[in-house]
Amino acid sequence: MDDRNSPLSALMPDRRSLILGAGALAGSALIAAPAVAAEYPPQNDFPYDEWVARMRGRATGMGIRGETYDRVMAKARPDTEIYKFDRAQPEFNEPIWRYINRRVNEWRINTGRDRIKQEAALFDRIEAKYGVDRYMLCALWGMESAFGDVIVNTKFMRPIINCLTALAWGDRRRRPYWEQEFFNALKIVDKGWAQPEQMIGSWAGAMGHTQWMPEVWLNMGVDFDGDGKIFPFGRPDDALGGTARYMLERGRFRRGEAWGYEVKVPAGFNAALADRRTQRPVSEWAAMGVTRANGQAFPRGGDIARMALPAGMKGPGFMLLQNFFAIRSYNPSFAYALAIGHLADRIRGGGPFIQSWPVDERPLTLEETQEIQQKLTAMGFDTGGADGRVGEMTQRAIQAWQAQVGMKPADGYPTDKVLARLRQN
Ligand code: CA
Repeated sequence: MDDRNSPLSALMPDRRSLILGAGALAGSALIAAPAVAAEYPPQNDFPYDEWVARMRGRATGMGIRGETYDRVMAKARPDTEIYKFDRAQPEFNEPIWRYINRRVNEWRINTGRDRIKQEAALFDRIEAKYGVDRYMLCALWGMESAFGDVIVNTKFMRPIINCLTALAWGDRRRRPYWEQEFFNALKIVDKGWAQPEQMIGSWAGAMGHTQWMPEVWLNMGVDFDGDGKIFPFGRPDDALGGTARYMLERGRFRRGEAWGYEVKVPAGFNAALADRRTQRPVSEWAAMGVTRANGQAFPRGGDIARMALPAGMKGPGFMLLQNFFAIRSYNPSFAYALAIGHLADRIRGGGPFIQSWPVDERPLTLEETQEIQQKLTAMGFDTGGADGRVGEMTQRAIQAWQAQVGMKPADGYPTDKVLARLRQN
């Protein structure tokens, strides 16, 4: 879900910056537009041809065949345009309630419900083998790639070999990381799982339905459709099977458990305990007066839970179980994990959060989002259709319109304020 040619792209699914802790709220969906400085010269130590020759020995030393290296690198071209994305910093901060409202939207809920039906047999097999709940996995799929939509719409994709070549060659700050992912990508080709031209994705190298970095593809991938190759594009079997394996093995996903609950805390609750770390059994929190927001009883009192009050005592509270942290193992952003847990509940048929956030904007309905797309299209801003999905085209169209009318921040999000302004025109 990356749009490599616009400043917006620096914010899209950049697992690397998230894993390295650089992009606090980034998440795989869009986040705010970054400030991009004009020039970022590469920091390479060697001319490109010499670098390619030097890396060959290291590649063959780790078992990559020389013929594979030569074949891939003969066609590779360092994509130096991406340096500006690598150095960009997010310009706007997005409060957690806005992050969640903007992503857990009607399009994602409805499409998720469709996918649950269409892929029921696949989700059955995944739940049987890995125990990872289909709704949480489906929500992750929706957040990472809009259920594979970014794979179909390849216009925003880059060949990741060229990206990793540029980063391993010219980014001195994180060189060991990029070199490792460069070699991982070569290993994938060497195994015969994919051709270099099939390996397209975000500028940072995230690919396929669930936006795997080469390391995840290589080490967590599963040939779940049994065709002899691990391939995170096309049918979602391998991508979703391997992502479930990741959640189980790296995230310690616990079969049959929820991710957590929206809760109310009693007046006088010691908010210092809601540090997202202090662990107690659900029954102990309940004994302190914490209740489910929907009034129902906690189904499993013995589960170990932590507490979070992301908007303080005035917003919704959350009791977080191990599976929240399993989601977070995939992307360390707290907002990302909460959005996925909530989207999973909505796809499953649950309602919105019961307690209100200190909201400064109202979530739009599908029809309202479509109205924004229709109005912008009529004004000559190409939103790539009016399906109610907020993709790269829509974000860029809104951003261009915001810049034109002087609406700040020009962050590319469809909001109630954008809609009201468009209706005035
Ligand atoms: Ca396969």
